[in-house]
Amino acid sequence: MTAIAVLGSTNMDLVAYVPKAPRLGETVTGREFRTVPGGKGANQAVAAARGGGEVVMIGAVGADGFGVRLRSALTAAGVETAALRTVEGASGTAHITVDDEGGNSIIVIPGANARVTGLEAGDDSRIGAADSLLLQLELPLSAVLAGALAARAHGVRTVLTPAPAQPLPGELLAATDLLVPNEHEAAALTGLTDSYQAAEALLHQVPEVVITLGPAGSLYAARGREPLTVPAPRVRAVDTTAAGDTFVGALAVALGEGRAMPEGLRWASAAAALSVQRPGAQDSMPARAETDALAA
Ligand code: ADP
Repeated sequence: MTAIAVLGSTNMDLVAYVPKAPRLGETVTGREFRTVPGGKGANQAVAAARGGGEVVMIGAVGADGFGVRLRSALTAAGVETAALRTVEGASGTAHITVDDEGGNSIIVIPGANARVTGLEAGDDSRIGAADSLLLQLELPLSAVLAGALAARAHGVRTVLTPAPAQPLPGELLAATDLLVPNEHEAAALTGLTDSYQAAEALLHQVPEVVITLGPAGSLYAARGREPLTVPAPRVRAVDTTAAGDTFVGALAVALGEGRAMPEGLRWASAAAALSVQRPGAQDSMPARAETDALAA
């Protein structure tokens, strides 16, 4: 089994479904409300576990009811949560409004995630025991950087999803092996809207880049090699929430099993294509056998 450590966020997604989102000062009546475990870190952890990885989650939840549910959602997916601390105060929450056109607006309140400012006892050896460390940007940068440096010191592959998009310190990029932005994040990082050009620019800072392109698939670029595009399976998408996280979790499993990048990308694309055909974030992530069947 491939061992994967995730240092990242856990959030409860509080989703309001409305015909039309309210403008400032306006009150509208919505159709439905749901609470759904999320957070980019937790989503990637669940995707990797469903894909067959042995996954440890490092981060924090709050000392509230959401924290209990966030932890149990991870446990139910087979993710090890001994390094997921419970800290005073509220869990991270994402307040999401989805309108009838599928458009959304989101407020993220980091809560417990903001308290993760570095590594704690035991984290260094958890990271050292992994094949890959998955990082995103929903924790304080000090923690992300500490994780990346620990992984680098142990020779563990670091996979960074630069979301939400923000300027990245050179030190973090220097400790990143594989950067996986979506096309918007790639454009935000480079100022270039052409994905090939953005990938080329990013290769000055990291050795390997995968830019995810939604239904158009993904683009892989590595120093000294011709870029490669991998199409996404053609499917009818009903909910693309966490498509990128599903892709990254699955890709980490495939690479950890020693599969070459093109094959890993095809497998990750199959996993993500399955997830977009079902509603939800973690709930929509496929089991390994389903991904194998679609990728075959
Ligand atoms: P994010 O979810 O981070 O915005 P993308 O939208 O680029 O990222 O999606 C990530 C991956 O999920 C894509 O590279 C693709 O493999 C898959 N995917 C996303 N949308 C679709 C779709 N409509 N049909 C098939 N695959 C999709």
